[in-house]
Amino acid sequence: MPLAPRENIGPVRITRIVAAPLFGESPKGGWSVEIKAEDSIHALIAVHTDAGITGYGSVFTDGRLVEAALEVLEPYYRGENALEPERVSEKMHQNTFWMGRGGTLTHAVSGIDIALWDILGKVTGLSVGRLMGGRHQERVMPYCSLLMEEPAQMGDEIVRWREQGFKAFKIGWGPFGRRNDYRLDEAIVRAAKDALPPGGRLMVDAGASDAYWPNGLKWALRTADMLADHDVDWFEEAVKPDALEDFITLRRETRVPISGGEVLTRRQSFIPFLVQGAFDIVQPDVTKVGGLSEQRRIAWMAQDFGVRYVGHGWNTALGIAADLQLASALPNVDLVEYIAGSAYVDNIMAKPFELDADGMLAIPDMPGLGVTLDRDRVARYSPKASELF
Ligand SMILES: [Mg+2]
Repeated sequence: MPLAPRENIGPVRITRIVAAPLFGESPKGGWSVEIKAEDSIHALIAVHTDAGITGYGSVFTDGRLVEAALEVLEPYYRGENALEPERVSEKMHQNTFWMGRGGTLTHAVSGIDIALWDILGKVTGLSVGRLMGGRHQERVMPYCSLLMEEPAQMGDEIVRWREQGFKAFKIGWGPFGRRNDYRLDEAIVRAAKDALPPGGRLMVDAGASDAYWPNGLKWALRTADMLADHDVDWFEEAVKPDALEDFITLRRETRVPISGGEVLTRRQSFIPFLVQGAFDIVQPDVTKVGGLSEQRRIAWMAQDFGVRYVGHGWNTALGIAADLQLASALPNVDLVEYIAGSAYVDNIMAKPFELDADGMLAIPDMPGLGVTLDRDRVARYSPKASELF
């Protein structure tokens, strides 16, 4: 029997948007000035509607900035139709061009946009991946993201997380490139490589977006050679994030794939990097770049340039949930980033993520993002948790 045509749905009006900054358990960032317990670098977002349906998102920046951004953005989102994520997000981008586009406002729109897609999914009964065009895959491999340690501890760390079922690893920041010691850098990589499971994959992240990154192109070229000799899958942020010309040269001159883009925001910022061939792999962060609407366009644009897309995911469980939906909605996305041991990833959901026997994560095919926040757990990390529900 054919399905009856569905009546028009909605509109579902946005009544209130709340940001709940997370505190106390931010994992180390490996930054030269390390994150403290009282710092907030992530905020959860709830978009409340007149239909009683709430969508959730996540923003990677100081929660106080997100709260201020919500005040500035309110005239553009209050009363809007929550079932039109791309239009509503673009309206916020277009009308705030003088107020710091690409910065706090873009970061905050990211969380709102993810939440709007969540609402559209919940209202229509479809997963975000289906709404974004369909499911190319049912599961994807999470790579375990670790900070670099001295060689002896580095091997132990990999073994610890290998035993949790991870098959792919990325190591970064910490002492790498920061001690003027090529031998130490290589010893760290060798220790990690030796500790991988059979068939395991290893990626290396210099973290050159760190404050006062001391190295230039020559360091990157020499280090890239070493990493190619160790069969590393990619070399991330090997030069400063704005060093477009250096990225282009590095990519052209080296055997190891070159990745970057985690601190770039707005789809327009990626155009010169893609047009001029700066990356083999592009890594926008869905909780910073402008949300799912923006990330999806960057990922497709990259694919059309023959560049791989693997999202940056040093954020929260809601960030991973968004990454998983995008991984389903694009062909050839073979990895999502997964921070090892972050309370904001492993301990805020009703049902935490679980690796299967192959070290893969199932991509939820439930309405919206397909994940549920746990009110009591979130309350441990945010005094404003109750306003999310
Ligand atoms: Mg990185």
